[in-house]
Amino acid sequence: MDWLGIFYPTKCALCARSGDAAICERCAAEMEPLQHESPLSEGPLTRRVAYLDYTGRAAQAVRRLKYDRVTSHAALMSQQMAELADRTGLDQVDAVVPVPIHWTRRCLRGFNQAELLAEAFTRVQPELLRRTRPTRPQVGLSTDERLNNLQGAFVADDRVNRQSILLLDDVTTSGGTALECAKTLLERGAREVSLITYAAGG
Ligand SMILES: [Zn+2]
Repeated sequence: MDWLGIFYPTKCALCARSGDAAICERCAAEMEPLQHESPLSEGPLTRRVAYLDYTGRAAQAVRRLKYDRVTSHAALMSQQMAELADRTGLDQVDAVVPVPIHWTRRCLRGFNQAELLAEAFTRVQPELLRRTRPTRPQVGLSTDERLNNLQGAFVADDRVNRQSILLLDDVTTSGGTALECAKTLLERGAREVSLITYAAGG
């Protein structure tokens, strides 16, 4: 008998059906696992992997967390990302760094979703990268505007010197934010930077 379940029945974070999973089986069945890493041509990232295609229920899971501030499924998402890191060897890094948000946004939202998603990881060091100013959402900006929007928005700590870093975020679309983070870490002496996200897509 699950006594806690009587008093705190779990509801699926996505469809609100009662059950005992943070994301119910029906919603999970509608998600599309990504089979491959995104190929990278040139750029600051060594590798880039994502757990799901950023569509349908996966996109909803991201939005529920970030915009509706529903966190009941964050632990599950984090666990799935940690398993992906393990499968792909990306857990073999010196430090895991959640993509930072500016403190003003953190005050509004109450948490940084990337930090929540890093909870199932070890060697998490959010202090290695800081966002020094708030930036506009990248969505709807032109390529030039995107670059200007992020220029100099991050500062890395000296301790990243010679470290291999795994950046972690909820979603990557254009990749602009992760690329600027990676550039900042490499300029500060990081040996290599890879990216893991819960979802990826356009
Ligand atoms: Zn559901």
